[in-house]
Amino acid sequence: MKIIDLFKEGKQVISYEVFPPKTSAGIESVKVATEEIAKLNPGFISVTYGASGGTSDYTVDIASNIQKAYNVTSLAHLTCVTSNKETIINQLEKLRDNNIENILALRGDLPEDMEKFRSRDYNYASDLMKDINSFGDFCIGGACYPEGHVESERLIDDIETLKNKVNMGCEFFITQMFFDNNILYNFLYKLRDAGISVPVIAGIMPVTNPKQIKRITELSGTHLPQRFKTIVDKFGHNPKAMAQAGIAYATEQIIDLYANGVNGIHVYTMNKPEIARRINNNLSEIVNN
Ligand code: FAD
Repeated sequence: MKIIDLFKEGKQVISYEVFPPKTSAGIESVKVATEEIAKLNPGFISVTYGASGGTSDYTVDIASNIQKAYNVTSLAHLTCVTSNKETIINQLEKLRDNNIENILALRGDLPEDMEKFRSRDYNYASDLMKDINSFGDFCIGGACYPEGHVESERLIDDIETLKNKVNMGCEFFITQMFFDNNILYNFLYKLRDAGISVPVIAGIMPVTNPKQIKRITELSGTHLPQRFKTIVDKFGHNPKAMAQAGIAYATEQIIDLYANGVNGIHVYTMNKPEIARRINNNLSEIVNN
């Protein structure tokens, strides 16, 4: 199923993200985790693409397994910054041959050894979207950043980027994680002002471990509200309490988003089915995929 079709009926949709293992040794455990998540019958499951494409086969393998074994729609991430046209075409052929209809088209983070990738053909995600669009019949999604991408000096430049993505065939966006819903609401007003009307799926990260937070803020510059920091200060030393509080915080964020008309929620599960299950249970009367 194409993800854009999920949003045509105005229902609340929940979806989950998993990431592939770094080596073949981890593939079985990721498949098991993914299958546990698929049993929750989400709107779709997305499978990330390792930086520099080193785990690209695992992405296809896991995304394909979700559809075959559980009949749950998958969304395969695909990055381009270290690729050339030939490797991208190969990847698109593999996705098509595995009946994967949805691609989250990304630039990818710039690697430190960027010099190595001289033969690359892509500078931005929109270049990749253009090629996917001319390759064939995929539903294309893209990333967006309610607080601005770390490389962008002004949010307005980022919004121009998003307009360009839509012009190149992007049919929906998934946001970077955020911990204050007002940030998303302000961002949605700006998109509306810019004439961008494709569905925006809110990326939510249930924080269950304080170590995640340092990494999150370093990588994405995401703002942490005082209310959230207080929870971490109080419960961060106790893993079970932190997990309960982190899941409750994420659940509250999600309910507020649904109540305010954001119909798509994408949960960053960190490959932990338990997180997906607990969030799913908390929303059992709210979401019926
Ligand atoms: P782009 O849209 O190309 O934007 C990158 C920067 O370039 C922005 O500052 C933008 O404003 C600017 N820009 C874009 N077009 C132009 C232009 N024409 N002229 C000038 N400036 C321009 N990374 C992975 O490696 N694997 C994954 O699976 C993955 N999944 C992700 C999923 C989500 C939901 C999100 C939010 C991010 C994900 N990332 C992933 C991280 C992502 O690759 C990085 O954030 C990356 O730095 C930017 O990717 P992008 O597709 O947003 O890039």
